[in-house]
Amino acid sequence: VTDKINALPEGANYFSLEFFPPKTSPGFANLQGRLERMSQALRPLFVTVTWGAGGSTATKSLELAEICQRQLGLTTCLHLTCTNMSRSLVDEALEQAKVLGIRNILALRGDAPRSNEYREEGQSPEEDSNKDFTWAIDLVKYIRKQYGDYFCIGVAAYPEGHSDESHPEHQDPLFDLPYLVEKTKAGADFIMTQLFFDVGAFDRFEEMLRGHESGVFKTIPIIPGLMPIQSYNILRRTTKLSHATLPTDILTRLDAVKGDDELVKQVGVQIVSEMVEHIKKRPSVGRRGFHFYALNLEKAVSHIVEDCHLIPPTLTEDDDDAIDLNAPDIT
Ligand code: FAD
Repeated sequence: VTDKINALPEGANYFSLEFFPPKTSPGFANLQGRLERMSQALRPLFVTVTWGAGGSTATKSLELAEICQRQLGLTTCLHLTCTNMSRSLVDEALEQAKVLGIRNILALRGDAPRSNEYREEGQSPEEDSNKDFTWAIDLVKYIRKQYGDYFCIGVAAYPEGHSDESHPEHQDPLFDLPYLVEKTKAGADFIMTQLFFDVGAFDRFEEMLRGHESGVFKTIPIIPGLMPIQSYNILRRTTKLSHATLPTDILTRLDAVKGDDELVKQVGVQIVSEMVEHIKKRPSVGRRGFHFYALNLEKAVSHIVEDCHLIPPTLTEDDDDAIDLNAPDIT
């Protein structure tokens, strides 16, 4: 991922898309078709595949990652959590990722059972037989120890702070900051944020990181996570789960149309596009990227990346000798 970011022309923007593994075979077939269309039409720099907490989707996440990386030739980043996971599952996932040619891991802690949006219904986590992994930093260190620089490692960050059962009273980016410094120092190559709708919170967060006295955030890509608005109810549910604030002006615009799903989507595209444009205008260290929590859906994110001119140009015949940075990884 970072090689591809660094190879982009100065001032270029890029984006990535997140997918989760469907539960059924028809779901997979459907998603595969959609992925094919989206990757050709939208040309994301990379895609990410989520990991069910406790390894509840291990097989399916790897299956989807294989489709993305091998069959579609997309640069793929596999999410991997480390708590409530047996050590062997972590090892298997990393080994399997390597076999599939995946070079990117988003190293996460994951959540305790029940509080997690990434867990499939009815799935219970593995026994937490692995006491080596308590925080995401433990996974970052482990990957670096076992695999050296083979994997490009991303880590999660929270512009509005992370709320946790262990410290529910501290939803504050300042509380997380020393841990994020350590996690980054341990070997992170890029930072991807939790979804947010309060762009001011992202502005302040990015400024805080870039200006941090340790200097660890000086040049590292900080990729804002944005969620296209698919429906009023999904929005309310996901923002509640992720503890993201819905600013009053955004809520007022959506409340005005909440009875009409189509209008919610249209206004939602406008809202997220305005967020992208706002962030684009901010001073940027290196190329500016955007990560979309597209929830496996096609339309809203397609409109946003199109409206915001994030789709990279395709090569013309005159550019024969140029390297197409968004071309599939197939060698
Ligand atoms: P950590 O970096 O370990 O931090 C967790 C919390 O603990 C923070 O509040 C931090 O400040 C605090 N902390 C860290 N170290 C210490 C310490 N030594 N002592 C005390 N406190 C400490 N979940 C999934 O299950 N599957 C996914 O695919 C997935 N994808 C995600 C993608 C993104 C971009 C993001 C932002 C989140 C994702 N999550 C996913 C959710 C994530 O697993 C949870 O938010 C989890 O609670 C925290 O993970 P983390 O990697 O940020 O943990």
